[in-house]
Amino acid sequence: MSLIIQKYGGSSVATTDHIRRVAMKVASTKIQGNKVAVVVSAMGGQTDQLLSMAAEISGSPSGREQDALLATGEQVCAALMSITLESLGHKAKSLMGIQLPLVTDNVHTRARIIKLQTEIIEQILSEDTIPVVAGFQGVTEEGWISTLGRGGSDTTAVALAAALKADCCEIYTDVDGVYTADPNICPKARHINIISYQEMLELAGLGARVLHSRSVELAQKYQVPLVVKSSFGGEKHTWIVNEEEVMENSIIKGVTLEKNVSKISIIRVPDRPGIAHSILSPLAEAAINVDMIIQNASIDGYADFTFTIPTTELEKAKELVGQVAREINAREMLAANNIVKVSAVGIGIKTNPGVASRMFKSLSEENINIEMISTSEYRISCVIEEKYGELAVRAVHKAFGLDKVSKEKTEA
Ligand code: ADP
Ligand code: ASP
Ligand code: MG
Repeated sequence: MSLIIQKYGGSSVATTDHIRRVAMKVASTKIQGNKVAVVVSAMGGQTDQLLSMAAEISGSPSGREQDALLATGEQVCAALMSITLESLGHKAKSLMGIQLPLVTDNVHTRARIIKLQTEIIEQILSEDTIPVVAGFQGVTEEGWISTLGRGGSDTTAVALAAALKADCCEIYTDVDGVYTADPNICPKARHINIISYQEMLELAGLGARVLHSRSVELAQKYQVPLVVKSSFGGEKHTWIVNEEEVMENSIIKGVTLEKNVSKISIIRVPDRPGIAHSILSPLAEAAINVDMIIQNASIDGYADFTFTIPTTELEKAKELVGQVAREINAREMLAANNIVKVSAVGIGIKTNPGVASRMFKSLSEENINIEMISTSEYRISCVIEEKYGELAVRAVHKAFGLDKVSKEKTEA
């Protein structure tokens, strides 16, 4: 008897009709002789709606209260799913993060899992009952409700699969797998049947929200067999596996667009040892992730210092960096959130010179100005103006020969 963890995302459980369809799918997996545990997201759009309600009241709600608010989305959905399973004649029990418990650190709104207890869920499974776990949420060691960051239900599912040593973790969403680019932005994106954890981790970390990047990290660490499927049916799906199992390797696996990006520039910073540290250490202390960093060549002993951060952290970062800017007598601090990051990802980058210039050429041909660049073994990223984001994805996708061949062409 296999143990399967099935996770259903927001669009798969958007209405009670959707929930009924999903419940039937869960039930049929069980009827086929498997043990199954379900993880659900909030009903589609619910998390955004809760966030905008909070925003109507406050520009900066505390992380603790934001988590208490957002966790309700998954609670509603888990209870409705259990009610539906019961109505279909199956035994089911909903479980919140705090009941498992799924214990996290205390970084509210993007907490990381510290431990996941499995006793209660194993007990429920042994009673031939379907556990329905509210994704995305946990509890801090102090006992406060926490959440794992947007898209975090995937991570709940993989963590559960790892802890229970499940045979498979199935992520059901509104696309039938991972594509070479977001198919909703790039209609010519190609379906990927099999992809390595490493490449998927890069894609997810750079904006391919089909999987939460932490879920891929956990799947690789605990060797969880992970598959992405459509909850609306279809044969196609994508397996995420170890690198050596991927036979066909292209230079570039995919192109991503990351929208949650802002930049802060500090103009005319005295160019002396310790300055970068004094600017960035308050951000590190506040657990704000700094991504790209650029310092211009110094002129007359002064330089400009620019870096990117998630837009969700911009207000906090402005406050912290503004204070440092005054202390070090910089001329001014500028902030912008009208930018995005476009990245080309693939394990072939490290061994193929010329990949970067091909990407830059494709952007220049569309008259898109590159504001910042960063590269690693696995990726090349460019920060550009937000309004060109989707165009840039299509241009880079085409430049690397990733576009699928149109039907007419194949038939010709
Ligand atoms: P869920 O609510 O099921 O978790 P998400 O919205 O989080 O769904 O993730 C699915 C979405 O991810 C797709 O609708 C698609 O627009 C987007 N996406 C971004 N990049 C990719 C990609 N490379 N392959 C497939 N989907 C992608
Ligand atoms: N409901 C949360 C979100 O919208 C978590 C998730 O869907 O995975 O981000
Ligand atoms: Mg998601």
